[in-house]
Amino acid sequence: SRSAIVFNNDFEIKSPLADIVMPNTTFLDRLWRDKSKFKSLVALESAETKKSYTYDQLSKNMAAFATSLHKKLGLKSGDVVAIMLPNSPEFVVVAFGSLQAGCVVTTLNPIYKEHEVQHQSKITQPKVFVTIPTLYETVLKGLKSAQIEAKIIVVDNANEPIPDGTVRYTEIAENSDADYSILDNVHKEDDDVAFIPFSSGTTGLPKGVEITYKNLKASIEIMSNEKNCFAKMSEGSFQDVVPCILPFFHIYGLVVTLIGHITKGCKLITMSSFSATLYLNLLQNEKASLLYVVPPIAILLGKHPDVNRQHFRNVRHIVCGAAPLAASDVQNILEKAKTKLEVNQGFGATETSSLTTATFIGQNSYDYDSCGDIMASITVKYVDPMTGDPVPVGQKGEMCVKGPIVMKGYHKNEEATRECLTEDGYFKTGDLGYYKPGVGAYITDRIKELIKVKGLQVAPAELESVLRTHPAIQEAAVIGVPHEFFGEVPKAFVVLKNEFKVSPEEIQEYVATKVAPFKKIEEVMMVDNIPKNLTGKILRRELKKMYA
Ligand code: AMP
Repeated sequence: SRSAIVFNNDFEIKSPLADIVMPNTTFLDRLWRDKSKFKSLVALESAETKKSYTYDQLSKNMAAFATSLHKKLGLKSGDVVAIMLPNSPEFVVVAFGSLQAGCVVTTLNPIYKEHEVQHQSKITQPKVFVTIPTLYETVLKGLKSAQIEAKIIVVDNANEPIPDGTVRYTEIAENSDADYSILDNVHKEDDDVAFIPFSSGTTGLPKGVEITYKNLKASIEIMSNEKNCFAKMSEGSFQDVVPCILPFFHIYGLVVTLIGHITKGCKLITMSSFSATLYLNLLQNEKASLLYVVPPIAILLGKHPDVNRQHFRNVRHIVCGAAPLAASDVQNILEKAKTKLEVNQGFGATETSSLTTATFIGQNSYDYDSCGDIMASITVKYVDPMTGDPVPVGQKGEMCVKGPIVMKGYHKNEEATRECLTEDGYFKTGDLGYYKPGVGAYITDRIKELIKVKGLQVAPAELESVLRTHPAIQEAAVIGVPHEFFGEVPKAFVVLKNEFKVSPEEIQEYVATKVAPFKKIEEVMMVDNIPKNLTGKILRRELKKMYA
């Protein structure tokens, strides 16, 4: 039987799949384990510039980048490299090259503004910042206000002049006479941190999530289980083609799409920003076979008038995650595609490195409202969100996840780490749901503050702190409200200082100058007071009720 085994007690649900065996090698050795099968195939191609790298070129450039970080820029193992780049082949060279140098990589959304660069830089203290010419000013201002002196590497394929004092990417990554022996001294343990992407978690401001080498190696093995492995191993001239539209700065794009498919030798086509025309062209002309999407893209594929069966000709699987997807949206895609393809939902969080549940390949009892069954080596339990006590299997509670993919903790933030990692090793997701044996996990509500716009995180606490810097604002609270395409959008409740008059539009405009565009406040409502509990915590549930 493939239904999950409930073990030890009535509460913990273990994956029905066999446990993984942790690789006895370094992460990079595991990443390249099968490379000999596909070394001369294309690893990465930019959808915009068409520039491409074979697997051999990629690993060569990575090693050159790693060596130059030590030799030319004086970095040491453990130093932090910040990456603020749109998806591109160079992103991958920089990210894995930095790991090869023993550095820790933190990733930033390339549409962040100064305020967001400052916040993340202050926490992670990067020694090197990698960006593109158009973002240079933002990076510079962000670093300056965080009082950090970092060397800036500029990725510029056009060979145009770069700002004074910066280093050109090609000088670092395309250094053919590099002596790689300096890398022999880099040693990383499983518990060492590789990536620090950011997530606000259950509450508060965005925090650095420590993803270790163990997390990455486990993710590769878990995603390689035949029930969850959508890619076929490249061999000869066969290659799965994977459009990379999900941003590499986010765990879904970085671990699931990128790492998961590099290990299989797929051809990854990077897209620097979403354009429906470019994406649909790619599906039609590039033989895309595996699509990793978030709900707004899934909705587009099901509803857009230009989408037809031609776009799905080579597609075997569509995997959707990062936010809830309705069964009706899946049906729309299946009707358009009129061909045999599977739509697999997945559930994960930055704090769990990659997916923790997914619809299994060939699963008998499909229910598109479920986000799938528990993946290998992962155990789930549900707890009463008020008391923390476990509830029997099948009953609703806060979903908690245990396994080798759970983060080490929040970077330099013990308090936040203690709040979400339990003593018995579970990560509290802040999502409410239940488990149905034989089908999988259902997410019914989100009890954490987090707002998800187009699958991206918006932390209410961050918008509230920006709102409070406005001279006319006494107090502010932000919640997420439903949106047809984006999933949710932020709505602000604002109490003005007595003597001030300001319009909702002015407030929206003010916030928009300080944060990335997807965080923009959709609606501002002036109120007399914000409901709070005795300790001063905003009662967001009350606000949601008021809004409803
Ligand atoms: P992030 O750390 O940005 O990946 O956000 C993780 C959060 O996204 C989860 O805790 C959920 O609230 C939400 N999420 C991810 N996948 C799904 C899904 N398949 N269905 C519903 N919510 C999801």
